[in-house]
Amino acid sequence: MDFITVERKVLRKNDELAAENRARFNGAGVYVLNLLSSPGAGKTTLLEQTIRLLDGRPRAAVVEGDVQTDHDARRIAATGAPVVQIVTNGACHLEAKLVQDALGSLDMDGVELLLIENVGNLVCPASFDLGEHKKVVIASTTEGADKPVKYPKVFRVSDVCLLNKIDLLPHVDFDVDEFLNYARTTNPDLRFFQTSARTGEGLEPWVDWLRDNAPGRS
Ligand code: MG
Ligand code: ZN
Repeated sequence: MDFITVERKVLRKNDELAAENRARFNGAGVYVLNLLSSPGAGKTTLLEQTIRLLDGRPRAAVVEGDVQTDHDARRIAATGAPVVQIVTNGACHLEAKLVQDALGSLDMDGVELLLIENVGNLVCPASFDLGEHKKVVIASTTEGADKPVKYPKVFRVSDVCLLNKIDLLPHVDFDVDEFLNYARTTNPDLRFFQTSARTGEGLEPWVDWLRDNAPGRS
């Protein structure tokens, strides 16, 4: 069996289902972001704080992707936002079909912004379109500043890059300029936000960006 051919078929089928998802989102006026990062970059905390700051303008819902457990979905549920958990049982990325199935369990009534937290992994999630409008890559100051050159694809396919945990900069050996240079070299069109989900620093510009890009019925 030709492995490359099988992989292409899987991706082609995924692209078809992603197109269905996107048509459904567009029909419902929902703006969708696919959030990608390595494990531990702070995606769930960032989502919790983002939803609190949005305060219903626009109304947001969340799809949580995890390899195991519904810990993250329970944290999101505590914000009051509609949330559905996808447990992949070992699979290292979300696929369009999983999102399509999960939408059946999500209360999308009045939702204008859907935030999909992908499985923590910088490799294959970059290849699987879920039907989102944009991908957001989240890096953090506790990782190497050379992530953009080690995992270029995820930085190339993303439109927005958040550098999170900036509150830790005095304590870690992370060169922000080096990171930004690597990221810009990989994708000159990336839009950057520097945030601390823990302290709230830098979250306002990110939330403003969400408000500017979501459908705008708020
Ligand atoms: Mg998480
Ligand atoms: Zn994977």
